[in-house]
Amino acid sequence: MYDTIIIGAGPAGMTAALYAARSNLKVALLERGIYGGQMNNTAEIENYPGYDHISGPELAEKMFAPLDNFGVEHLFGQVVRVETDGPVKRVVTEDETLEAHTVVLAMGAKHRLLGVPGEDTYNSRGVSYCAVCDGAFFRGQDLLVVGGGDSAVEEALFLTQFANTVTIVHRRDELRAQKVIQERAFANEKIRFIWDSVVEEIKGDDIKVQEVLIKNVKTGQVTAHAFGGVFIYVGLDPMTDAVADLGITDEQGWVVTDEQMATSQAGIFAIGDIRQKQLRQITTAVGDGAIAGQQVYHYLTEHLN
Ligand code: FAD
Ligand code: NAP
Repeated sequence: MYDTIIIGAGPAGMTAALYAARSNLKVALLERGIYGGQMNNTAEIENYPGYDHISGPELAEKMFAPLDNFGVEHLFGQVVRVETDGPVKRVVTEDETLEAHTVVLAMGAKHRLLGVPGEDTYNSRGVSYCAVCDGAFFRGQDLLVVGGGDSAVEEALFLTQFANTVTIVHRRDELRAQKVIQERAFANEKIRFIWDSVVEEIKGDDIKVQEVLIKNVKTGQVTAHAFGGVFIYVGLDPMTDAVADLGITDEQGWVVTDEQMATSQAGIFAIGDIRQKQLRQITTAVGDGAIAGQQVYHYLTEHLN
C-alpha cells in the first residue's frame, strides 16, 4: 500500500513525487514510457526560470535526478483504470493492480489529429507530430506546418534549420502563439504563411507525401501545393481514458480540480496539462505538482490519523 501513486512522469508528476517524498511518504511514480513527458519533444525551452535556454530532455534529466535521493519508487506500466473504494484507491495497469491511500493524476495531454484524408496513410511517411524527432529527415525540403499556437510557430522556427521553406497554414488571419514567438516567425525569411485556410487532403505516391490540398475558408477556393512533409500542431487532448468512469472531467475530458489540485473524488488529485486550466506550461505543471505533493501529505494526516 503506497501513500500515493503518481501516474505520469512529466514535469508535473516528477515535482509531485519530489514534494511528497520529501514529506517522508511512500511514493510510487508510475510511467508508461520515458520520464520527461512532452518535454522530450521540445528542442529548446526558453521560458523556464533559471535557464536562458535548455533542451527538453536535459531539463527532464535534471528534474528526474533528485528523485532517487528521497526514495521515490519508479514503476513502469500503462494505467488502464483508476478505481476508488472509500479510502483505498486502486491503480490498474495492463499487468497488475496497485493500491494506495491517494492517487495523483499527471498523465498530461497528447497531440490532436487533424482528421483529414491522407493524414493516417502518410503518418511517418511525411506526416509528423514531432519536429524534434523527425525534422532532420526533411533537409532541403518545402514543409507545411498546420496550426497557429505556440507549438506550431515554435516548431516551424525549429524546422527552418533543415528545410528549404516552412509554410504555416492557419485557419484564421491571426496567430494564437505568444507575441515573442510570432515576431521571430515573421522575421524569419524561410517562413511563409497561408491565412484563413485549412488542410483538405494530404496526397502522395506509394512512398511519401507529395502534395497538400488547402482550402481558403473565406472564399472556398481549394488549391494544390507541393510539400515534402506536413507537421501537425492543432492542439491537445487530455489523457483521461483511464479515469473516464470517475466523473471528474468536464465536457472536453479535462480533469476539474480546485486550487489545491483536489478532484471531486476524495484522495484523487490532478496536476499539469491534464487539468482544466488556462495555461499549459512546464512552469504551471511544476507549480501544480508542488501543491499536490503537499496536499497529499495534508490529506493523509487528516484521514489516516
Ligand atoms: P506531460 O508532459 O504530458 O507528461 C505526462 C506523462 O504521463 C507522460 O510521460 C506520459 O507517458 C505519461 N502517461 C500518460 N498516460 C499514462 C498512462 N495511462 N499510464 C502511465 N503513464 C501515462 N512548455 C513550456 O513551458 N515551454 C516550452 O518551451 C514548451 N514547448 C513545448 C513544445 C511542444 C512541441 C509541446 C508539445 C509542448 C511544449 N510545452 C512547453 C508544454 C509542456 O511540455 C507541457 O505543458 C508539460 O510537459 C505538461 O507536463 P505534464 O507533466 O502535465 O504532462
Ligand atoms: P493550442 O494553443 O491549443 O493551439 C492549437 C492551434 O491549432 C490553434 O491555433 C488552433 O486554431 C489550431 N487548430 C485547432 N484545431 C484545428 C483544426 N482542426 N484545423 C486547423 N487548425 C486547428 O495548442 P499548442 O500550440 O499545441 O499548445 C498547447 C499548450 O502547450 C499551450 O498551452 C501552449 O501555450 C503550450 N506550449 C508552450 C510553448 C512555449 O511556452 N514556448 C510551446 C509549445 C506549447 P485557433 O487559434 O483558431 O483556435
